[in-house]
Amino acid sequence: MKHIINMVLAFIALLVLVAVQVFVINEMFQLKKGEFDKTYEEEVFYALEQFNYEKSQSPFSSILLSLNNYADTTLLKYPVFEFEDSLVKLEVANEVKSVMAENDSISVFLASYLGNKKLETDFQSGFQIRKFSLIHFNDRYNIMDGNVGGFLVNSSSIFIQTITAEYNFYHIEFDFYIDFTHKKKVIIREMRVALLLVFGTISIVLIVYLLTLRNLLRQKKLSELKSDFINNMTHELKTPLSTISVASSGLSITKGGGNKKLEDLAGVIKKQIKLLNKMIDQILDISMLERAGFVISKNTFELVAFFEEVIGSYKLKNKDKELNIYFVHQIKGSHFVMLDKFQLNRVLLNLLSNSVKYCNEVPEIKINIEKDDNQLVIRFKDNGIGIPQKEQKHVFNKFYRLETAREVGVKGLGLGLYFVKKIVEAHNGYIEVESTPGKGSTFVITIPLEG
Ligand code: ADP
Repeated sequence: MKHIINMVLAFIALLVLVAVQVFVINEMFQLKKGEFDKTYEEEVFYALEQFNYEKSQSPFSSILLSLNNYADTTLLKYPVFEFEDSLVKLEVANEVKSVMAENDSISVFLASYLGNKKLETDFQSGFQIRKFSLIHFNDRYNIMDGNVGGFLVNSSSIFIQTITAEYNFYHIEFDFYIDFTHKKKVIIREMRVALLLVFGTISIVLIVYLLTLRNLLRQKKLSELKSDFINNMTHELKTPLSTISVASSGLSITKGGGNKKLEDLAGVIKKQIKLLNKMIDQILDISMLERAGFVISKNTFELVAFFEEVIGSYKLKNKDKELNIYFVHQIKGSHFVMLDKFQLNRVLLNLLSNSVKYCNEVPEIKINIEKDDNQLVIRFKDNGIGIPQKEQKHVFNKFYRLETAREVGVKGLGLGLYFVKKIVEAHNGYIEVESTPGKGSTFVITIPLEG
């Protein structure tokens, strides 16, 4: 589950990374587009100046003169009142556009100018007419007003300048535009290193993500296989163990025979079988836990009586060992709690047996409980060998054992505290450890109480 959450988070991070990269690329594109427009705007200006210089005339003069001739003939062609007619206006407007296009001497000049400078020459230039009126003596006949056509302006068009002119027979205002056909291609070509880096990074991250996902799925499969195997193996081990157990009991029945050595050996076998059975049960529990998750079943019981019962029976079972267990609390009267009694019993037994196992002196264990309406706090203090600071956060991990545990020759699988933590967490609680090597450890369990 944790891995799935991690993978989902990694996937979201990947999406965010892609979104950020797209944003950055878009910003860079806009920046480059601005640079492109500025460069070509300047170049066109220089070209217009060059035109002026070489031909000793304004770049637009041939257009403006032709328009004057056209306006002159048009004024003769129609009676003036017809210039109010929208159809006539439309016809004149179209003719004005054609006259301008036909007499455009700038485009050719611009192409050769840009070509000489090894710049882009694949472009379209044109005029967007804002206003055009015919002048007849003192009268003006408005033919076009506002942005009424000519060059088709779009987001990639570069505005160069506005020209306003008035001749004998007309007045005109128009904008001069230029539009490069391969503008996008040129900009993208300039951005190719950045694009390659971005796509490279995204691809690498994506590949790493997919490889991790594949490994995770493989690992999951392997761990399922492993837990199946452990499960089967431990089950299979149980049968010969119970046979050995029965056989060793048979041996000890012959006690009356007075064979002391046999009796002792039977006792050793029994003890070891008990230990083996305990380990096998732990392994079976863990594989069940990993399959189905930790399910607790709560019941109501009296708190102090429960602790006294668990401690009492532990003392009884270990009556041949020298150990002191103190149960301390300030709780008065009966206090009922709703927890999983069976699992809580397991927690206490695990902690008790650890305190005894990992102790080089006569074990002194102090169990203290505090309860209020909201929570139950269990403090479990021993005088054992202690746990070094840097190991404390690991002791609740599955299969984790300290080097000192092996040194003192204590057998174990490193599963006890893992179970304790799982049980406490299944009750929505948490467990912490405070410890000083050589002095002892205190395990503190906090469990919220319902109602
Ligand atoms: P196991 O006892 O089977 O090794 P546990 O999960 O119960 O597994 O404990 C993990 C490790 O934590 C032990 O191997 C031991 O090194 C350390 N440990 C646990 N309880 C104590 C304790 N009360 N005092 C000192 N060390 C402890």
